Amino acid sequence: MNMMNQGELLALDRRHVWHPFTQELTASAPIPMVRAHAASLYSQDGQEYLDMISSWWVINHGHTHPMIAAAIAQQAATLEQVIFAGCTHPKAVELAVTLANHLPQGLERVFFSDNGSTAVEIALKMARQFWHNQGKTRNRFLAFAGGYHGETVGAMSASRSTGFFAAFESMLFPVDMLPYPATWEQDDALESKEAEALAALEAYLERYGDSCAAVILEPLIQGASGMRMCRPEFLQKFCHLVRQAHILIIFDEVMTGFGRSGTLFALEQVGITPDLLALSKGLTGGFMPLAVTVCQPHVYEAFLGQTFSTALAHGHSFTANPLGCAAALASLNLFTTENTMARVVAIEAIHRERLGGLQGSTKVLHGRVQGSVAALEIRGIDPHYGSDRGGWLKNFFLKRAILIRPLGNVFYLLPPFCTSAQQLHRAWDVLEEALESGL
Ligand code: PMP
Repeated sequence: MNMMNQGELLALDRRHVWHPFTQELTASAPIPMVRAHAASLYSQDGQEYLDMISSWWVINHGHTHPMIAAAIAQQAATLEQVIFAGCTHPKAVELAVTLANHLPQGLERVFFSDNGSTAVEIALKMARQFWHNQGKTRNRFLAFAGGYHGETVGAMSASRSTGFFAAFESMLFPVDMLPYPATWEQDDALESKEAEALAALEAYLERYGDSCAAVILEPLIQGASGMRMCRPEFLQKFCHLVRQAHILIIFDEVMTGFGRSGTLFALEQVGITPDLLALSKGLTGGFMPLAVTVCQPHVYEAFLGQTFSTALAHGHSFTANPLGCAAALASLNLFTTENTMARVVAIEAIHRERLGGLQGSTKVLHGRVQGSVAALEIRGIDPHYGSDRGGWLKNFFLKRAILIRPLGNVFYLLPPFCTSAQQLHRAWDVLEEALESGL
């Protein structure tokens, strides 16, 4: 199998593999990637591709970082896996302590799982059972329109307004949706959008404040619905109102966490400590599937009792997998030893400079930047996921050896933090070229 040539590999892929978020009948052949380093992926035919979407938003330091690779190798030769009910292990404990030290005071209790959707699902279940264990009926959930939280049933329920899940509509439970004041550079309507969203919240709280278990939101950037950004000040006001109604706050930092938003966690900019926090993706530097749901003591304590009936009846085969924990510890360490956040600041500056240069373009709308994420809308492209022109743009970049993945009419760059200034400028240059050549 190792010696398969590209044609054989693609033929067998076509015959036996089912790819995610892909219309298998019409999709072009996938690119066989065989190697990676820093901000680059290398295909079987030796072509280098600049990974400007951090391989679905997971790579933060860079591909195959030697420190993370070594930590995993060492752990694999020591303790690769152990049941996490009735056993523990040093890397899980060390990671829980390290995360607690990096997070605001209060966020100190760590429940492990293995992907972002599951971290969210666990947060929703914790929130629901938190009230159940106290004999209170708070059954409603609240979310923002456009919020995306993952692929499991609870996460899909909280994400249904994105339109990705129409086929599953009858399986989903109701989640109340509030308007989201998405904003961008030079947005004249910002104040009125925020006021409208806060007024909608107030009306909601008056009616359902006593029956809502929790609100879930992606702080500062709604990722999958098109890198839609909002101001920290808005979220601050929003969360203060929610807190007055004793509703639990869940932050989904699966995408924004670990430096992506310009601070280690977006919650630092918002200035709010949520009751529950979901993290994954960049947790291991993108090396291993690992996730955590972190909660405050008052949440944890509601599950304590003399019988199993109040315990959280939830767990996975790979809960706190030691390889994932070792990778996460190595990745977190790099933020200090490599001064990673300074790299994010440099990326953000280039994004702003290049977006500024596009200001006069009649083809570009709603430019926005938050940390390492830059996004804009392209006039005339169908806003639906998988649109033809979005596909055209993706291919335009691929021909120039850059991997991107537009979300409908939204073009965005979300590079690994090791991306050089020259590499990042190249990506922006290609966008300019695409705009000039008929987009
Ligand atoms: N929440 C957010 C904010 C996400 O962006 C994603 C994935 N894009 C998820 C949850 C789901 O994570 P996963 O794909 O690891 O299940």
